[in-house]
Amino acid sequence: MPDPHIESEALADQRVIDLLRSHVAGDVLGDAGSRGEYARDASPYRQMPMAVVRPRHRDAVVALLQIASEHRLPLIPRAAGTSLAGQCVGSGIVVDMGAYQQRIIEFDPVSRRIKVEPGIVRDALNRHLASHRLQFAPDPSTTDRCQVGGMIGNNAWGLHAVSSGTTREHVQALELVLADGTIMNAAAVDAAGLGVVRSRDDREGRLYDAVIEPIDRHAAAIRSGYPSMRGIASNSGYALDALLRGQPWHVQGACFNLARLICGSEGTLAIVTAATLGLVEIPVAVRVCCLHFAGVTHALHTVPAILETGPAALELLDRAILRAAETHADHRGSSFWLRGDPGAVLLVEYAGASPDELEVRIRHLLRMHAPRTATVVGAGDIERVWALRRAALKMLMQAEGGLRAFTGIEDAAVPVDELADYYSEVQALLAARGLAHYAYGPVGMGSLHVRPEAGKGREYAPAEFESLLDSVAAIAVRHGGSFSCKHGDGRMRGKYLEAVLGSESLAAMRQVKTAFDPTGILNPGKILDCPPLTGDLLLQAPR
Ligand SMILES: Cc1cc2nc3c(=O)[nH]c(=O)nc-3n(C[C@H](O)[C@H](O)[C@H](O)COP(=O)(O)OP(=O)(O)OC[C@H]3O[C@@H](n4cnc5c(N)ncnc54)[C@H](O)[C@@H]3O)c2cc1C
Repeated sequence: MPDPHIESEALADQRVIDLLRSHVAGDVLGDAGSRGEYARDASPYRQMPMAVVRPRHRDAVVALLQIASEHRLPLIPRAAGTSLAGQCVGSGIVVDMGAYQQRIIEFDPVSRRIKVEPGIVRDALNRHLASHRLQFAPDPSTTDRCQVGGMIGNNAWGLHAVSSGTTREHVQALELVLADGTIMNAAAVDAAGLGVVRSRDDREGRLYDAVIEPIDRHAAAIRSGYPSMRGIASNSGYALDALLRGQPWHVQGACFNLARLICGSEGTLAIVTAATLGLVEIPVAVRVCCLHFAGVTHALHTVPAILETGPAALELLDRAILRAAETHADHRGSSFWLRGDPGAVLLVEYAGASPDELEVRIRHLLRMHAPRTATVVGAGDIERVWALRRAALKMLMQAEGGLRAFTGIEDAAVPVDELADYYSEVQALLAARGLAHYAYGPVGMGSLHVRPEAGKGREYAPAEFESLLDSVAAIAVRHGGSFSCKHGDGRMRGKYLEAVLGSESLAAMRQVKTAFDPTGILNPGKILDCPPLTGDLLLQAPR
């Protein structure tokens, strides 16, 4: 079905289509219907791409990049297209990396390592690993459809990030195709090896040099500017901080690895054609404690103490979400663990080697929480609890006739002991604007997803949307936080990077972008130099 909100030319530039068809193995689509299918991701942005290419294999990607760099054709790498900040929306050529490239290339259960093509879906990958009791740990809520390439692009993380980290911590090496078509392996290099690579007078040697130099020069600004340097979850900007924590800046630190930088770079630095991933064991024993609270603020005050108990996951759901779930056909029975009508619940998961080990920790937590209500869910039913949590956003995006709640301000993270204050300020701001909201999310990571309700029939002007983002970004920055802790910058939150990271860090990021992509063909207008925030924005409330 063509999207009436997207203006389309009848046909993409035929010369571009012919050129691509004659050089790139795979599908090259130029008709309005196909392009319309790729004109949106899960964000409120809509824009018709010039064409869509589905490369059949790595060499097709190389050919595509050679042509694109010669003719300055902008490319938009895409996996499942579930990004929330417009990462996959633009007027260039969409490169669907998931259509064909879904193979497992190598798997070694002993070293707990797997090499895959980027189009493999996370759930499919983990189904393959389940009989070995292994898994690829990062678990975004879109696990049933998101692909490894997209998880790398966004440095995705999910419910278990408090215990198992983000995608970056599980990516060991990446095969990349650079903007000019050069194939490069990004993997761990120790300090001695780094000296050798940097002395090479080739594309790779010059690239390493050009990435290290600005980090070196702006190290102090990166240390003081990046929220993650203060322990706050952040996917704001390029992960220069992740490199700065290791060699050559810290002799005892992890080896230098450009793969760490590619994670979270949103397709703007290189295209990933293979990924070597570290795997972890599936825990033997798991229980979830559902702690009931009178309200969100009460719950947020307890987060720092609960973190001390070493949970595997720590998530919040507020009353508005719980009520939405009760009325949603798919989730009606999923809140079986709920007692009464609490203002908020915290879901605290413990995982370990034996049920006895968990008992001790659960008893301790319940003592801390008493006399308030709590229920404990055992292994057989835990998936139902998390399915409800994972579905929260989907429910909010799927109200009949339009959105139930807006994406945009939900991705801030602040120090956990400031969560309650942060929430009061955001709550007051929304109330002053007459906006009801939903609140949920990974509070154990310092993030509370606050989503303003769309409001039936309410006009939501783009300028109003931008001004709300401006205000909440300012609150997050005042608390020393990030504004994109998980869902990325895309074209929606690039505007705030200077406020979050500082101008010097931003200058270093620009140099890194130029080193990778001198002609700016890789996902232009994402993270850096974004188009106006309200351009191509479609805010559709239910009628
Ligand atoms: C309902 C809902 C819930 C969500 N929950 C979470 C969550 O819990 N945690 C979370 O982190 N995110 C979440 N997201 C955002 C998103 O689903 C994740 O970030 C997901 O990992 C993106 O995967 P994808 O396959 O859809 O990638 P896409 O959206 O297609 O792409 C993501 C980025 O990667 C780039 N990219 C894709 N493939 C390549 C490649 N081969 N080489 C280089 N760059 C590439 C793209 O250009 C883009 O910038 C949610 C989204 C929705 C709609």
